[in-house]
Amino acid sequence: MDTVYEIIDCIAENQAIDAEQLDILLKNNDREACEYLYEKARTAAGSVYKNKIYIRGLIEFTNYCKNECYYCGIRKSSPGIQRYRLSKDEILCCVEKGYMLGFRTFVLQGGEDVFYDDKKICDIVYSIKERHSDCAVTLSIGEKSYASYRMYFDAGADRYLLRHETADEKHYKKLHPDALSYSNRMRCLYDLKEIGYQTGCGFMVGSPYQTTDTLFKDISFICEFKPHMAGIGPFIPHKGTPFAKENAGTMDMTLKLVAVLRLLRPHMLIPATTALATVNPEGRKKGILAGANVVMPNLSPQGVRDKYTLYDNKAYEESEAAEHIAFLAEELKSIGYEIEISRGDYII
Ligand code: SAM
Repeated sequence: MDTVYEIIDCIAENQAIDAEQLDILLKNNDREACEYLYEKARTAAGSVYKNKIYIRGLIEFTNYCKNECYYCGIRKSSPGIQRYRLSKDEILCCVEKGYMLGFRTFVLQGGEDVFYDDKKICDIVYSIKERHSDCAVTLSIGEKSYASYRMYFDAGADRYLLRHETADEKHYKKLHPDALSYSNRMRCLYDLKEIGYQTGCGFMVGSPYQTTDTLFKDISFICEFKPHMAGIGPFIPHKGTPFAKENAGTMDMTLKLVAVLRLLRPHMLIPATTALATVNPEGRKKGILAGANVVMPNLSPQGVRDKYTLYDNKAYEESEAAEHIAFLAEELKSIGYEIEISRGDYII
């Protein structure tokens, strides 16, 4: 049987993985072998992106949501959540602040909030692009019709993030109520790509009922769908959800999966997520050292940051905060990386 090192070499060389190889890698806890995996992943990222890290200004513009995803702290029935919505002017203010700080991509993320109809979303996107045609706008506002996605694209949206959550239909049903379906999630992702968005999918690591088998399906889906971006971060329980008592995903498991994805898809944009920084203060740095090449500091107004609570104890201080970009730059410099001030497009 191949050693873990041989398996890592084989994945890096062929940009392919089978279920048994994934199982062995995920079970491996030998430090040196993990370091070898991360080093190979860094080499793969460096071959495309050198030592540059892309930054995105994250604007969490609403925590209202009509959905009831079992894992999510802003689900409709989540108790004790102080709900908020940012006005168009407040969003534009965040963009101005971000622009001054050097951000050239803005990610507008929110729950599925019917208050923002297509007209409002298009107006916000159009207004950002009108002011800053050198910037990219990313939307992450959930499942919509083809026609809506088309409208946002025509208004100027460049990218769309919609995590697939799990590529196993049975697992999907265990994470969501009947009103949400795996087939519609997938339909959305294929629509987004067809329209021409730089499209991002992704999943939580350690979500309840996840197995190596479902993770292999996630990875196979990513290899087949070929998204431009993939966001993966640990699942972290939120006290107001049905999964309040479940275990959180771990940093180590997340890092291994980040590295595997990097070996399989060297060009893919992979963020070191806030969830990773939440489970471990070193999480973001370690994510980059495992092959991630994007960070998304928070540009939302200070007063709402602790209200966008997808999970408990969310990190939103220091390098998670956009205004502390110098701190982030220092942190990255300490591990040999530099922030790149640009739209941060996918490199073909
Ligand atoms: N409503 C949009 C959507 O459905 O794509 C975007 C917002 S949604 C809250 C963003 C992502 O947060 C989800 O795709 C999910 O993977 C992640 N998330 C939600 N709850 C989480 C939790 N408890 N732990 C970690 N990540 C979580």
